[in-house]
Amino acid sequence: MTTISFEFYPPKTDEQRTQLDRTADKLKAHGPEYVSCTFGAGGSTLSYTSETVRHLKQHHALDAAPHLSCVGGTRDEIGELLDQYKVIGCRRIVALRGDLPSGMGHPGDLRYAADLIAFIRDRHGDHFHIEVGAYPETHPQAQDALADLRHFKAKVDAGADAAITQYFYNADAYFHFVDAVRALGVGIPIVPGIMPISNFSQLRRFSEQCGAEIPRWITRKMQAYGDDAESIRDFGADVVAALCRRLLDGGAPSLHFYTLNLAKPTQSVLSRLA
Ligand code: FAD
Repeated sequence: MTTISFEFYPPKTDEQRTQLDRTADKLKAHGPEYVSCTFGAGGSTLSYTSETVRHLKQHHALDAAPHLSCVGGTRDEIGELLDQYKVIGCRRIVALRGDLPSGMGHPGDLRYAADLIAFIRDRHGDHFHIEVGAYPETHPQAQDALADLRHFKAKVDAGADAAITQYFYNADAYFHFVDAVRALGVGIPIVPGIMPISNFSQLRRFSEQCGAEIPRWITRKMQAYGDDAESIRDFGADVVAALCRRLLDGGAPSLHFYTLNLAKPTQSVLSRLA
């Protein structure tokens, strides 16, 4: 097996907190290199991310990395958060532009992820290992695929150490992306982001928003299973495990799992890879 990492979102209710604790306990057994915690757009979950990072570090002894986005934050606010993360012992940050909730909110002082990376490097030098987002199927708002590759390179030039991709179900998109950025002189690790399949209709809705393509053959098969939840879970885990195997065989340096705070879907994939 390879090195792995897990992504969680910050829980907001007691019930969600209990669920995250249960999930973290189970997934810890797989020895992740680190876990990361997402950051909600618009500032409303600012404190939930840092609270959750602190909890994952102190209660679960996990190396927890906060996601940080430009959206909604002033330079001072982002600077303060970074200082806090340094004080609690964080060495890794996932730096993103973020998305504005449609039609509302303040975009923030920093416009693109590259600006945030430059800001972090300026304020804290090499203290943080900076991960950035990458889009093998092209970011949905990109002017075009080539411009997106140039903007990705700008993040690396600004100081990114590694990248985690948006999820995808087509391994060729990943390999093509890696070849394309290597041709531009980018040498950092590009870690595939893996989305296990648990709730297919939710996944379809989410994929439309974030521009991830679900291949037709997967959709058709899922539709054929109807309400047969067990077959859906098994088929989903088989598909995602086969994707992971192909990515690793093709040279992917590590795998980052979008857990959605659930243990089972990720564990089903990992058990097939063992
Ligand atoms: P950027 O790299 O800044 O790119 C955004 C868009 O702008 C792209 O289309 C790019 O081509 C374009 N662009 C970049 N620079 C320029 C320029 N100079 N001129 C013109 N166009 C430019 N969102 C959250 O809100 N919270 C999270 O915790 C979170 N976690 C994520 C984790 C991962 C691994 C990934 C892949 C995404 C995550 N997201 C998260 C979603 C992310 O915020 C969105 O995809 C967002 O739309 C883009 O973020 P980015 O950092 O990739 O942006």
